[in-house]
Amino acid sequence: EVVVNRIAAGEVVQRPANALKEMIENSLDAKSTNIQLTVKQGGLKLLQIQDNGTGIRKEDFGIVCERFTTSKLTKFEDLSEIATYGFRGEALASITHVAHVTITSKTADSKCAYKATYNDGKPTGPMKPCAGNQGTMITVEDLFYNMDVRRKAFKNHSEEHAKIADVVQKYAIHNAKVGFTLKKFGESSADIRTPPNSTVTDNIRLTYGSTVARELLPISHEDKTFAFKLTGQISSASYSLKKSIFLIFINHRLVDCSTLRKAIEGVYTSYLPKNMHPFLYLSLEVAARNVDVNVHPTKHEVHFLHEDAIAESIQRAVDATLLSSDS
Ligand code: ADP
Ligand code: MG
Repeated sequence: EVVVNRIAAGEVVQRPANALKEMIENSLDAKSTNIQLTVKQGGLKLLQIQDNGTGIRKEDFGIVCERFTTSKLTKFEDLSEIATYGFRGEALASITHVAHVTITSKTADSKCAYKATYNDGKPTGPMKPCAGNQGTMITVEDLFYNMDVRRKAFKNHSEEHAKIADVVQKYAIHNAKVGFTLKKFGESSADIRTPPNSTVTDNIRLTYGSTVARELLPISHEDKTFAFKLTGQISSASYSLKKSIFLIFINHRLVDCSTLRKAIEGVYTSYLPKNMHPFLYLSLEVAARNVDVNVHPTKHEVHFLHEDAIAESIQRAVDATLLSSDS
């Protein structure tokens, strides 16, 4: 059973950046306003996240890392949300099957913090009281220690670090109210630092430079027929890149969606010079019931119902935004 669990876990946690993304989403779900990340050897040696969110209750310490344990479903209707992001309560459990995990956490009403380590979904011993501020610190060590082939596939640590930095930058842009810090272990200066209560545009400027930030057009579009809402910042027709930059969040989750990507970039071809591309940051909110339940979220590529119609509707909105700024 341990081996089966490990293989399944390896599917959920494909590389260090995936594991970190899951942990960032947990910290955001816990309403953190500050998230600090420390990474060693591209995340293979160490992935650490410290947040100032609501924390994990003492009585939940025994089960937080068990499969299908989630504190995020309270009502029966919430089951449609399970369908949306198929692996509710699987992320943390999966990580404990392929790494050594330590959790330290304190809720607002607890006198002290508690700490426990986990392997294969279970605490390795009793939790211990300790000092700590409100929030949660999760330390993931020796990722894929029990998966030789997988671990060796990630021998390029700087490439893995770059993938992690990319995820952090994108979440920092989308969650501009939250302060993010990413550091390499043992280094005093941060690779990424976004202040709390920032704006999307400020964080785009910080990450992608002032040239693109100057050219951004806000986009905002609501479609009643297909029940979705779009907001974002897109580059104007007088700006272009050799390679496109595309950030899309669907229901606040960073995803790939090639249908949308192609459709939207297509609009720009009639505005931009040949072989030049746009910058796009888009946040799409669709009714949970319309997100395709058949696509496992770890596949990153997301599909939803009425995808073509939604893509067309967004194309028109992008076109209108580019046109209106032209005059
Ligand atoms: P899910 O996010 O789908 O509930 P996870 O496996 O990602 O499943 O997390 C399991 C549970 O652990 C969460 O439901 C939450 O109760 C708790 N948890 C994980 N990370 C944090 C955190 N940073 N702050 C507070 N609670 C957390
Ligand atoms: Mg989660």
